[in-house]
Amino acid sequence: MITEVVNTKELHKIDPVFGQLSFDNHEQIVFCNDKDTGLKAIIGIHNTVLGPALGGTRMWNYASEWDALNDVLRLSRGMTFKSAITGLNLGGGKAVIIGDAKTEKTPELMLRFGEFVHSLSGKYITAEDVGMETKDMDLVRTVTPFVTGISEEKGGAGNPSPITAYGVFMGMKAAAKYKFGTDVLEDRVVYVQGIGNVGESLVENLSDEGAKVYISDINQERLEEVRDKYNVEIYGGRNLYTEEMDIYAPCALGATVNDTTVNQINAKIIAGAANNQLADEQKHGMMLRERGIVYAPDFLINAGGIINVYAELEDYGRQEIIRKTENIYNTTLEILSKAEEKGITTHQAALEIAESRIEARKSRK
Ligand code: NAD
Repeated sequence: MITEVVNTKELHKIDPVFGQLSFDNHEQIVFCNDKDTGLKAIIGIHNTVLGPALGGTRMWNYASEWDALNDVLRLSRGMTFKSAITGLNLGGGKAVIIGDAKTEKTPELMLRFGEFVHSLSGKYITAEDVGMETKDMDLVRTVTPFVTGISEEKGGAGNPSPITAYGVFMGMKAAAKYKFGTDVLEDRVVYVQGIGNVGESLVENLSDEGAKVYISDINQERLEEVRDKYNVEIYGGRNLYTEEMDIYAPCALGATVNDTTVNQINAKIIAGAANNQLADEQKHGMMLRERGIVYAPDFLINAGGIINVYAELEDYGRQEIIRKTENIYNTTLEILSKAEEKGITTHQAALEIAESRIEARKSRK
């Protein structure tokens, strides 16, 4: 019996799973525990109407189990819509391992995790996410076939980040076509926030096209490395959001469009790789719309990575990966126009297309 509610912030936590704020009719949540290896993981299967639930495994030192649960619920839901809008026959899933990937990830723990994935008989297929590397997936592959993102030497499609970046670049070009009437990015001012695996490849695409690129990151060494390689400028100011720019590309963390930044953003377009860029999908999506800022939905334009790993399941090659990734351009244009016609946010327009694909498959079943 619940005898005490500590504060209102805790209220939503009264119901352990189905009552969570991020719970959205997920099909199955699997809690995995192994005393010997110290594994504590949660696998979230949001929806399998279109196919097996595919999504990466994130290892993170969560402040609490609630945070881990909410993360897996939110991320697995996002995967459902990402695959649906991209036209892949995949459902949405994700896994989180609670712990510090730098100090607590051992081969034994990863193998045990792989066994849990295997126990779901292919309903969930894992891949890489934050805290994971291709070599971890290679290890998981030794205990289950239900894993993607394995190395090219082992027959996989390798690092998905350059493809993710290329898809973001396509989405950005489509947004430019919509906003400026041309998709040529030469001389356009673009701020790339976060120049990790995806951000760096995006910088490469942009500088090849002649865009005027500014980069920002919390890692100074990396900033200098990328600046010297691509002849781009390091942003030296205090508040990137207020700078006048054509395109803001969030490629670090999610929720950078939030109550504080939404009215500061001085860009004409937002198009980047980070997941869950809008802190509040409806509210902030609408505020951007009212300010005339074109937002290219994150889950649509950052789908290159999943297209890349899907190749391992469907056995298609590089050419098809590129073709599907380039199609992000057409889908983005379609969604931006649909949002305008219906007077809704671009995020909502993308969600509606994804949901209708799932509903159509459900009624055919
Ligand atoms: P990464 O870890 O390689 O790079 C992230 C970069 O952001 C790092 O250089 C980090 O120093 C920087 N960073 C962190 N906090 C920052 C801050 N406050 N301000 C500026 N920079 C900051 O990650 P990645 O693989 O390049 O992914 C980038 C984003 O794209 C993530 O949100 C990820 O979830 C998303 N994403 C990645 C892929 C993929 O294929 N890798 C696919 C889909 C979505």
